Amino acid sequence: MDIFLALINDLERRSNVTIMKNAAVRSLTDDRRGVRLQDGATLRGDALIIATGGLSYPTTGSTGIGYRLAQEAGHTVVQQVPSLVSLSCVEPVPQDLVGFALKNVGLSVARPDGKRLFEGFGEMTFGDRSIDGPLVLSASRQVSRLLHNGEKLLAHIDLKPALSAQVLDKRLIADLDANGTRIFNDALRLWLPAELVPLALTRLHIEYYKRLNQINGAERRRLLAFLKNVEFTLCGTGDYSAAIVTQGGVSLNEVNPKTMESKLVPGLYFAGEVLDLDADTGGFNLQIAFSTGHTAGHSSATRNVVRE
Ligand SMILES: Cc1cc2nc3c(=O)[nH]c(=O)nc-3n(C[C@H](O)[C@H](O)[C@H](O)COP(=O)(O)OP(=O)(O)OC[C@H]3O[C@@H](n4cnc5c(N)ncnc54)[C@H](O)[C@@H]3O)c2cc1C
Repeated sequence: MDIFLALINDLERRSNVTIMKNAAVRSLTDDRRGVRLQDGATLRGDALIIATGGLSYPTTGSTGIGYRLAQEAGHTVVQQVPSLVSLSCVEPVPQDLVGFALKNVGLSVARPDGKRLFEGFGEMTFGDRSIDGPLVLSASRQVSRLLHNGEKLLAHIDLKPALSAQVLDKRLIADLDANGTRIFNDALRLWLPAELVPLALTRLHIEYYKRLNQINGAERRRLLAFLKNVEFTLCGTGDYSAAIVTQGGVSLNEVNPKTMESKLVPGLYFAGEVLDLDADTGGFNLQIAFSTGHTAGHSSATRNVVRE
């Protein structure tokens, strides 16, 4: 909000710009060079820029109206889905794990046939029936649309990405040998943070109170498989109220990238998240808004100068 107000104040103070606050647009005028406001007033200009954002975080004023306005002007609008958002799981997450952050893990998301759609390394967290955090937000960009189309995907979490399965197996053999009299339930802390132990116990089907020197080869291989691949079935995403960006929007094929002017309606421009353009986390979405906003503003202003 501070940055928002700073930008508005700067515009009002330094540039010859009138900003109408609390003036919600309801529709375009028939000539598509103006807008009708909620209070019934009509505003017209030589050019019109639609920069109403997406559907994400409705509390920031985003209602998705820009998509409707673009459609009214004859534009193709690519179906929207939430992006940079948590991913919902079919399997419940044990309570101990909810809110816990896993650092330095590998995450890949794949179709059930094994086709890999995302692979990354970093930090992730768990919700009640969801996975979240920076790594998951990045994954959501690649898979949100597929999940919203009804596909079921698999998330694979590698808890020991720095160790190959072969090296890790040698370490497990050595650990089991060196800690033979410890019971499994307690010894799991050798390889896992405490928060992951309940999930390991449910997935591994190994007797809690078995001593490590009684763990057989098949059980050790199950433990190895768990450490290298904790699997969750993904069935959807979080909703727009917590999605950092909206994927989809006004088709780029119908907008001139050099000016951001509509190829269909002269004098109509688009900027920002209302476009079918989104990016990873890291400031790239803000950069899209700033760059397309600057281009649309500059080219719509110089358009008038050229015409006069
Ligand atoms: C919580 C959060 C964190 C984010 N963090 C990052 C980040 O770290 N890095 C990054 O790159 N991006 C981030 N983003 C995304 C980034 O903020 C957006 O992509 C970017 O602000 C989009 O800019 P925009 O101008 O297109 O739309 P917006 O910033 O959404 O602005 C649209 C404006 O249009 C107004 N409006 C809407 N409808 C009407 C109407 N009918 N009449 C009048 N006005 C209307 C809205 O009130 C709003 O002021 C984040 C987003 C959120 C929600």
